[in-house]
Amino acid sequence: MKILVCLSVVPDTTTKIAFTENDTKFNSTGVTWIMNPYDEMALTRALELTEQDAGTVTTVTVGLADTDAVIRKALAVGANDAVRINAAPMDAMQVAKEIANYAASEAYDLIFTGRESIDYNGGLVAGLLGELMQLPSINVVTKIELDGNNAKLERDIDGGREVVNCTTPLVLSAQKEFAEPRIPNMRGIMAARTKPLKVVEGSAQGNTSFTKFELPKPKQGVKMITAEEAGTLIDLLHNEAKVI
Ligand SMILES: Cc1cc2nc3c(=O)[nH]c(=O)nc-3n(C[C@H](O)[C@H](O)[C@H](O)COP(=O)(O)OP(=O)(O)OC[C@H]3O[C@@H](n4cnc5c(N)ncnc54)[C@H](O)[C@@H]3O)c2cc1C
Repeated sequence: MKILVCLSVVPDTTTKIAFTENDTKFNSTGVTWIMNPYDEMALTRALELTEQDAGTVTTVTVGLADTDAVIRKALAVGANDAVRINAAPMDAMQVAKEIANYAASEAYDLIFTGRESIDYNGGLVAGLLGELMQLPSINVVTKIELDGNNAKLERDIDGGREVVNCTTPLVLSAQKEFAEPRIPNMRGIMAARTKPLKVVEGSAQGNTSFTKFELPKPKQGVKMITAEEAGTLIDLLHNEAKVI
């Protein structure tokens, strides 16, 4: 079995977000980059599945050379090889087209993405990939079990759980619970240095661009109101906080 895991490289969750170039670009100065957490889960489940039948796991990232360190972490965790499509990720359509172009000639049984990137939160790549590759695409999956080329998938839905049957090849996006991410050990880290990380040139175009980013307004200080001022409290909740 061949599994492709789409790996996005995102700012560490403790990053202080700031923008540059007239608020049109994320300021990446001094940012620590990590593997998108949902992609870590997708990677771990892919490894578990291929360990059962001696398959292979390849990761693919659309990104520039500064993503290589994070890609090496995926190799250290256990991926067999990695592909980096050398292009700056500009929008979800461009990313999906690049991955679809690469994957078209590789006959993967399963293509895993995370449910969303935790930086731009588009939640689009899995659906677009399915359409571009003419494959079924199932999103926010919490569980996958395989029986030959039949896949049984579980998804959380409002107030319950949905079970979906689908034949491979398919695309899915991983949601929390999909797997418990693995931490690379020293042997994995050493092995990762010599595992193949192939770089191919990207050529796809997206169809959107950012015109402006805005940070949320700073939180206002706490207002203390005494027990005797119930009228003031109601007034503030009604006219200022607008919650009643
Ligand atoms: C450094 C940097 C600069 C950027 N600058 C711009 C910019 O100037 N203008 C702009 O429009 N956008 C920019 N982007 C955003 C970029 O377009 C997004 O990475 C892309 O749109 C996909 O994000 P999404 O939120 O739609 O993905 P989602 O659909 O939320 O991602 C879901 C899953 O798709 C996969 N995936 C997502 N991105 C990638 C990837 N790059 N490689 C492999 N798999 C991936 C992962 O499995 C991920 O979990 C930038 C991103 C980065 C990291």
